[in-house]
Amino acid sequence: MVLLEGLKIANQIKEEIAETVTKMKEAGQKVPHLAAVLVGEDGASLTYVGSKVRSCQKIGFESTLIKLPQEVTEEVLLKHIDELNRHPEIDGFIVQLPLPKHIDEHKIIMAIDPAKDVDGFHPVNVGKMCLDLETFLPATPYGVMELLERYQISVSGKHAVVIGRSHIVGRPMSVLLSRKGIWADATVTLAHSRTKNLKELLLQADVVVSALGVPHFVKGDMIKEGAVVVDVGIHRIPDARLPKGYYITGDVDFEEVSKKASYITPVPGGVGAMTIAMLLKNTLIARERAMTKA
Ligand code: NAD
Repeated sequence: MVLLEGLKIANQIKEEIAETVTKMKEAGQKVPHLAAVLVGEDGASLTYVGSKVRSCQKIGFESTLIKLPQEVTEEVLLKHIDELNRHPEIDGFIVQLPLPKHIDEHKIIMAIDPAKDVDGFHPVNVGKMCLDLETFLPATPYGVMELLERYQISVSGKHAVVIGRSHIVGRPMSVLLSRKGIWADATVTLAHSRTKNLKELLLQADVVVSALGVPHFVKGDMIKEGAVVVDVGIHRIPDARLPKGYYITGDVDFEEVSKKASYITPVPGGVGAMTIAMLLKNTLIARERAMTKA
């Protein structure tokens, strides 16, 4: 069994980006600038946004964090988005999800300029992804594809089962795996909460990407010998004995599944780290595109 070390690969990608940024500075060019909008005080969102901003600083990007209170109105949030869309210094920005219930998430995503939508959630960018056009790929599935490629794992002609059909992970994951290309070309089954024969499907899978959000759902007896297993799930499990009061685990029962898998991602240290690296990559791409347009 080979561990797919997302953290290690993510650090490599960040180093590559940092080298490009150094060259940009040396050439007197503007460096990429990522902005993040955070609404409320949700613990996981604070952690994610915090590490996105810290990563920007480490690799030489400019970053801006806009923190808004939980009770902010949709109108005020839309005003911030409009400013970011028009701000000449900001190359790309994200609005950290989930948003409070009184805000229409869809309306917010629609308001983001697709050219600055480095999360790749705007329908224009989703459409372009489906049509193999130049776009911003959503960071988590993009990270999974990049991880497979860097480990030289070909999924071509293989049967991949993706568990979960969310707009940010499962659905785009199924699209990317099934696209044409040397590191894609898989035959994909997209499973979800209404799927009746999941275990049967998983036992036929050469590649499993789990993104359903249930801790330790995928057990050893659901996986074919030699399968590639990618665990997207992130769960904070409360444990009062630990200094942080919780530990992080995934959708996959690592202890059982790692005995059968040929390759497997750990949690933490797997897909999560790749997600941030690919967001930074998208921001660099946004800057490069803006430069060629100028
Ligand atoms: P979501 O809740 O939006 O979607 C879950 C999907 O799983 C749904 O489509 C649902 O139909 C499916 N599902 C639920 N129960 C199922 C079952 N028993 N059998 C089959 N399918 C089932 O979740 P999401 O936003 O896609 O996130 C999924 C997991 O990935 C969460 O643990 C989340 O924290 C994690 N996540 C990780 C990263 C990362 O960077 N690693 C990024 C985003 C999300």
